[in-house]
Amino acid sequence: MKVIRTISEMRNWVNATRQKGKRIGFVPTMGFLHEGHLSLIREARKFADQVVVSIYVNPTQFGPNEDFDRYPRDFQRDERLCRQEEVSVVFYPTNDEMYSPFHKTYIITEDLSGVLCGRSRPTHFRGVTTIVGKLFNIVQPDIAVFGQKDAQQAVIIKRMVADLNFPVEIKVAPIVREMDGLAMSSRNKYLTPQQRKEATVLYRSLQLAEKEYADGNTDIQSIKSKMRKLIETESSGKIDYIEAVDAETLDAPQLGKRDTLVALAVYFGNTRLIDNTILKKQN
Ligand code: AMP
Repeated sequence: MKVIRTISEMRNWVNATRQKGKRIGFVPTMGFLHEGHLSLIREARKFADQVVVSIYVNPTQFGPNEDFDRYPRDFQRDERLCRQEEVSVVFYPTNDEMYSPFHKTYIITEDLSGVLCGRSRPTHFRGVTTIVGKLFNIVQPDIAVFGQKDAQQAVIIKRMVADLNFPVEIKVAPIVREMDGLAMSSRNKYLTPQQRKEATVLYRSLQLAEKEYADGNTDIQSIKSKMRKLIETESSGKIDYIEAVDAETLDAPQLGKRDTLVALAVYFGNTRLIDNTILKKQN
């Protein structure tokens, strides 16, 4: 496994790999890897000969008062995990390598980036699409895998790839959870033991939505208010949002008629956790 730190070296590897006719699979991450990330690597390997994982905590996707500085980092551990997963290349660039001091260009997916998480993180998705666009140009993957954990991100990346004609196929892999249901996240590390315990309510609230829907409740307002009540009574979490939107377009939902994304963001102390489920259309 190679650890590559510069764009020029990455390009050399990509050119040599393409010349051999090998397919490149790509998993972009911010590191501090967990089973969720590893599941994406395994998914990428199904469709590619060589897997590239990028580890880069991208400053442009963090707001001014967010956790960029204290975002957890452990490169040695990440490197070991990637080696175990038989990754071909870990691309681990510096900030100077990724952003020149003269950087002025951003990719914006209109409308999609202003809803859900975009309301409280107004510049977040602009940062995500910009870095993913840059990474796609550097790594030139045939396929790239993203997690359903970040459902809005997956929708936005698919839109970007279609709109800007990136020659890459996007796969979305299911949410990997801890034994008690909490969605795996590098940010779970911030939680106190008490918050960690309480945070299981997020998955239970999504399961409640699934059960209501399976039992015939198609009133999305009533489902959302039951979720809210559960979170408020069983935890100290402060709800940022609980929303239901069309799973493909992020427009107003048509519960029952089209797949509906039920997504939430909740603060436990300063830690903002997200999770979601899809209520499948009934036909
Ligand atoms: P991050 O390192 O948090 O930027 O995440 C990198 C990729 O891993 C993104 O595509 C995430 O959606 C995905 N991911 C993060 N957590 C999970 C999880 N629990 N299950 C599945 N995918 C995940």
